[in-house]
Amino acid sequence: MIPATISQLVSDKFQEAQKNNNVVYKKLDSKLIKDKETGMRYYATLLPSLNDKPEFGDTAESEDPLAAHEPELLVLEDIDGSGNLKLVLNKFPTTENHSLLITNEFKNQLSALTPEELMTSYRLISKMDNEDEGKRHMIIYNSGPQSGSSQKHKHLQLFELPEKFTPFQDVLTNGKDHFLPNIKEEPLQDDKVSFAHFVLPLPEEAEEVTEDLLAMCYFSLLQRTLTFFQDWLNETPDLVKSYNLLLTKKWICLVPRSSIKAKSLNVGFNSLGYAGILLIKDQESFDKIIETPTIVNDLLLECGFPNTAGVKPNEYNY
Ligand code: AMP
Repeated sequence: MIPATISQLVSDKFQEAQKNNNVVYKKLDSKLIKDKETGMRYYATLLPSLNDKPEFGDTAESEDPLAAHEPELLVLEDIDGSGNLKLVLNKFPTTENHSLLITNEFKNQLSALTPEELMTSYRLISKMDNEDEGKRHMIIYNSGPQSGSSQKHKHLQLFELPEKFTPFQDVLTNGKDHFLPNIKEEPLQDDKVSFAHFVLPLPEEAEEVTEDLLAMCYFSLLQRTLTFFQDWLNETPDLVKSYNLLLTKKWICLVPRSSIKAKSLNVGFNSLGYAGILLIKDQESFDKIIETPTIVNDLLLECGFPNTAGVKPNEYNY
């Protein structure tokens, strides 16, 4: 069982780690902005401390910083009594309390999530969310070299959503009942945004969310994402499969990725970008995005694939 006091455990650990300089966290500014053309809202953060974070390929093959993390960052060695996952503070957090769910045994970040990992993630979010205080959380999984992932040891990441921020997936799934996609019913996709993404609403009642249900949601979206790559292989034969997974209590979303970084501006994205949470390392790029929020839709497309809302699926999609 995940301890009922998990929120407190994480925030106490984070305060202590920040006081003792065990985490590298420097946030200079953050702003809520809106793209008037698409209606997309973004939460942009200027975070120079991200320059210290190792990027994909920076860590030597023989090293595993997520296994050999500093003891001061450990929140729980065994998050739910199964012995499979530990909860560790992120050394280079992007928000306060930013934590990692790391497999105790080494598994590769390219491997699919297991039903147990999905269920533990859902339970963790449910324990951390606090409706009275308006606190919501999201768990992400960056998988593949173009996904924004930097470590090969399997890990998911836990964040609190910024206050008063509504990811577009909330609007997309609002009032919609849970369903599993099939040849007749595609996953939800917002036709106003540029990039392909596949979203399913989760049941409102937490008791209805089981390991099987989460696994079916994930695998059907993964199947849709992988067949999507199939369509692009002729044009880009070197394409390596990469995707982002985003999970909240309300929905699950997968985004196929083509590139970590946009070429037109010095910004990169992981899963957070595809919820509208932008982590910017330098002032110049931050200012540009604040001045012209419409460019973000193009940057996200540059690192993803074109939106396919309204395109009829074929038998290979499912
Ligand atoms: P990703 O970049 O999606 O693969 O996530 C890996 C995360 O591990 C990043 O957010 C890093 O900030 C974090 N990280 C890197 N090195 C360490 C470390 N030594 N201890 C804890 N977290 C780390």
